Amino acid sequence: MKAIILLGAPGAGKGTLAEGVRTATEYIHISTGDMLRTAVKAGTPTGLEAKSYMEAGELVPDEVILRIVGERLAQGNPDDKYMFDGFPRTLEQARALDATLEKLSAAVNQVFLLEVPTPVIVSRLSGRRICKGCGAVYHVTNIPPKVADVCDQCGGALYQRPDDSEETVLNRLEVYERQTASLIDFYDRKGVLVRVNAGTTPQEATAEMLSKLA
Ligand code: AMP
Repeated sequence: MKAIILLGAPGAGKGTLAEGVRTATEYIHISTGDMLRTAVKAGTPTGLEAKSYMEAGELVPDEVILRIVGERLAQGNPDDKYMFDGFPRTLEQARALDATLEKLSAAVNQVFLLEVPTPVIVSRLSGRRICKGCGAVYHVTNIPPKVADVCDQCGGALYQRPDDSEETVLNRLEVYERQTASLIDFYDRKGVLVRVNAGTTPQEATAEMLSKLA
């Protein structure tokens, strides 16, 4: 089993890059944010538990996240290659992931830190649009769909994530600095951190990441 992680602030382009890497490689994309949004939409107990945290831009409790990731990994195969997006987000999650992988005789192979200047992040998040049908990610000016508000891939309607509103975005960036940024040091010390300039276009950032993928 192989495991890589996409680390970076909200709006750094984790989902977009993950999609580019997924189509070019055998990596399986695991986005805890997507899993939670699916659970909220379906009204499952996990979704009900997560909803208020997500709306406020706060982190969902570690135990909830570790449960859904654990359940997902339990369905996998020994030679799967996983690309985590938006997970881990706390030191506790990072340590739990290490312990889970160790039991499977695996470890975190590489952590790609997506570096983007803050003003770029804010503009990306406020212009971001998501497909209701397939979850594809667009941006009103940077990655516009061919037909306004319609997904190129599945024809679904595009919407703005409720947590992409200006007020929640600022809180999410603060939460990133307070709870997630310490993971940069954690993985740097392990010697697995790889920096990617993600302030460029999705194509350039994806190409840079693919060139650095071991
Ligand atoms: P994302 O799509 O990765 O930006 O995640 C959207 C929201 O889901 C976050 O603002 C959190 O509320 C929640 N979330 C996603 N992944 C995690 C995680 N690993 N730990 C805690 N909360 C998470």
